[in-house]
Amino acid sequence: MKFLVHTYGCQMNVRDSEAVEALMLAAGHEKAANEDETEVVIVNSCTVRQKAEEKAVGKAGNLIAAKKVTGLMGCAVKRMGADVFKRLPKLDFAVAPRAFGLIPRILAEGKFPRLELGDDVAPECLAAHVDGGWQAFVTVLLGCDNRCSYCIVPDVRGHEYSRPAKEVIAEVAALARRGVKEVCLLGQSVLRYGVRNEAWSAEHSSADSTREPFPRLLRALAEIEGIERIRFTSAHPSGCTDELVQVYKDCPKVCRHLHLPVQSGSDRILKEMGRRYTRAAYLAAIRKLRDFDPAFAITTDVIVGYPGETEADFEATRSLMEEAGFDNAFVFKYSPRPGTRSAQLPDDVPTAEKERRDQVLLADQEARGQRRNAALVGTVREVLAEGPSKRNPARWSGRDGGNRIVVWDRDAAARAPALGERVQLRITAAHPQILIGETI
Ligand code: SAH
Ligand code: SF4
Repeated sequence: MKFLVHTYGCQMNVRDSEAVEALMLAAGHEKAANEDETEVVIVNSCTVRQKAEEKAVGKAGNLIAAKKVTGLMGCAVKRMGADVFKRLPKLDFAVAPRAFGLIPRILAEGKFPRLELGDDVAPECLAAHVDGGWQAFVTVLLGCDNRCSYCIVPDVRGHEYSRPAKEVIAEVAALARRGVKEVCLLGQSVLRYGVRNEAWSAEHSSADSTREPFPRLLRALAEIEGIERIRFTSAHPSGCTDELVQVYKDCPKVCRHLHLPVQSGSDRILKEMGRRYTRAAYLAAIRKLRDFDPAFAITTDVIVGYPGETEADFEATRSLMEEAGFDNAFVFKYSPRPGTRSAQLPDDVPTAEKERRDQVLLADQEARGQRRNAALVGTVREVLAEGPSKRNPARWSGRDGGNRIVVWDRDAAARAPALGERVQLRITAAHPQILIGETI
């Protein structure tokens, strides 16, 4: 059958959708060229905020109206459980985030409606990739056990589980053989890799003195021939250990970029959120990274309008963002999620005020991004080429190790770079979200 997968939400969902595509292709199905010709549509949903859930469920609703075989997968399914069929009475099947591997079988059996909420996922499903492309996501840690007060992720993605290092290394080696040059390792709190369950078996003796499981994994992956860059996301400050910092110093393949969600700059709010760090501890963690490379890119997530967030709390977030000198920031307006601890508190910051705080932080970040980028003018950055720029096809586009977009003139370049090719660029101008360079 011809199928399409529509994806909402984070990189985890992007990765799960890719695995579903690979499993569908392996089962003999074919990717449809467009919505008109598709026979099966699968919507991969998000539920981290109310709006995100509404978008995905709305999309599935529209597709049902177009009378396709429709399936919903991902986080919103686990949150709603059997109620998903009340919201979408004509939905054919629904599978929880870890149950995507069952989709080909569900289609083969054709018994609808069908609901799968289990948390078991077969290792071969996690390792399924679609051929082609020079970048790939690799899930190394499933679920989350942190239980931050506002977050629904632990309820929908299950307990933390680290995949065996052996499997991850084999998967990345296989990707490298297929031409992948850049991998991004995924986990909700990826630096907790190997903490809750053993990831390294006894036969793997550590080649050096590195003991902690995640830094060990990075070192092992950096040895794989063909892999040029290793990224990972998301991180928690408690994982910014000396061993991790040492990996950044020793392994040029490990990109000097860390996505380190801070959520708030107010110690009182951080405590209520159950984030287990203070503002000072957070700033100390990033100082360790910027101390040896001032261009080390730090990006973050922030929530505005958490229950009880006062003007003073908000100003603390503002000043923390300034002190941290973030290279980029994603700002989210607090959205109460059913079943989370903070959903029991009154959602008392008015919508208009959340909006205002959001805008203030975005404007601050725009100016800060400009300043951070301007400091790079005159330096040489190495990028991996990603093809013509989407905004301006007269330019090539790529990213440096800090995940910054760098564009350069096509006419002035001697030849077209191959996808994923390394290019050295001198930075000639800076914008808040983009750098302009020239080949040298
Ligand atoms: N695992 C990651 C984040 C996963 S969710 C981490 O802990 O760092 C992605 C982002 O969504 C979070 O960093 C947070 O900023 C935001 N978020 C999560 N729950 C939210 C909620 N209830 N309302 C608004 N934003 C939320
Ligand atoms: Fe949610 Fe906190 Fe886990 Fe991130 S670490 S997924 S914010 S509970």
